[in-house]
Amino acid sequence: MTSDAIQPCPVADAHRRLMDCHAQWHILHDSYLEPDGFRLNLNSLVSNLRSVTWLLQKQKAVIPDFATWYPEFQEACKKSEIMGWVVKSRNRITKESDLELLSSCQVVWTRNWVQRAEGTATFPPRMSTSEIVRALHHSNTPPVGLITVRRKWVDKALPSWELLAATAEAHSWLSQILWRAHKAFGVGSCDLADRPVECVTSVLRSTLTRPPCMDLTRSELQAHFTMSGGVVKEEVKPFDPDPANLEAAEERYGQLKFPTSGPIDSVPGFMAMARTMMEKDGHHSTIAFLYNQDRGVATRGLQFDGQNTKMLAFEGLADLVESTRADGIVIISESWLAVPTEREKELKTIFFPARDRLDRTEGLTVYAATRDGRQVELLSMIERGPNGEASCGEPVEVTFPAGANTLTPIRRKWDDMEKRGL
Ligand SMILES: [Zn+2]
Ligand SMILES: [Zn+2]
Repeated sequence: MTSDAIQPCPVADAHRRLMDCHAQWHILHDSYLEPDGFRLNLNSLVSNLRSVTWLLQKQKAVIPDFATWYPEFQEACKKSEIMGWVVKSRNRITKESDLELLSSCQVVWTRNWVQRAEGTATFPPRMSTSEIVRALHHSNTPPVGLITVRRKWVDKALPSWELLAATAEAHSWLSQILWRAHKAFGVGSCDLADRPVECVTSVLRSTLTRPPCMDLTRSELQAHFTMSGGVVKEEVKPFDPDPANLEAAEERYGQLKFPTSGPIDSVPGFMAMARTMMEKDGHHSTIAFLYNQDRGVATRGLQFDGQNTKMLAFEGLADLVESTRADGIVIISESWLAVPTEREKELKTIFFPARDRLDRTEGLTVYAATRDGRQVELLSMIERGPNGEASCGEPVEVTFPAGANTLTPIRRKWDDMEKRGL
């Protein structure tokens, strides 16, 4: 019988070591973009993963039925590519040359919304990010825009696995083995103390599944930098669908009518909603609604404080378009508007962001685009009262859409998906 009560840990040395591995896995994750730190942390994590079963076997004389259930795990481990790799790595330190062979380092340079240059595997994985930024300075890359560095680490001895996924998988195996050991003692939860990192607790998993904190949706990790080497953070937040918030919203804005048709037809409805909120709050955050076959599939609030972070937010949104297979999008945003010059009209482009122009005006826009090429945008001009209170003008359809630039990453993504048959 396994008891629900918290009991002293029967295999404390092994269990504590597994918790060390969990904490170390996050350190490995955090050092992913720097080659030296990554290699150092990888070597130490692998050797700690290896030692969990040693510590367990030291206690085999006192673990009930050890001789019956442990060999089963040993057999399964022998067949597992991952556990085989961990065991073989016992006397082997992963060297730079072992990692260099199959890892990749891709650099994307984004000048502005339209111009984007991709260089794949231009840089050897051993190069640090600051070395990459320096090398770009010495090349012909203009000193503006944004650099995205994407990395993927693979060990020569385990060619089909990315290393964060591999070590997370090894952690799951060991968690399952320790769960079984606790069960042999009739212990469900043990008393080992939680660690400062919130997710590092004594909880063990009975099946070969990863804790949510180790679930990686991307097969590679990336970071963004300005050409001067400064780090740029991407921020795309899930919209909070808490019913309590909706209730509070109703109290504040009255009955809001949420449009229920497809993206293009919903634009007037969203505009009515946005005007109500704008006049009440004096501002409106940028929100994106994603659709698949006229059904809402995701909602995101976008935050940015400048042109670079804005580009990132929309690039992130384009990734979400792919993962949700969205074929339509509606965006509500409050923005600075530029009156395009004749030259800009002729070239169908805006040279300076509206926020940097003296003749800028303020507007509330709702725009929609679909994968099959439809696009519509409504604009309501905002006038400010003496205390900043906003009043929204009658919406008009615009022919020189303000949203055109921000949709570039989305359209690029749709083209790309088409080519890949998605
Ligand atoms: Zn324990
Ligand atoms: Zn965790």
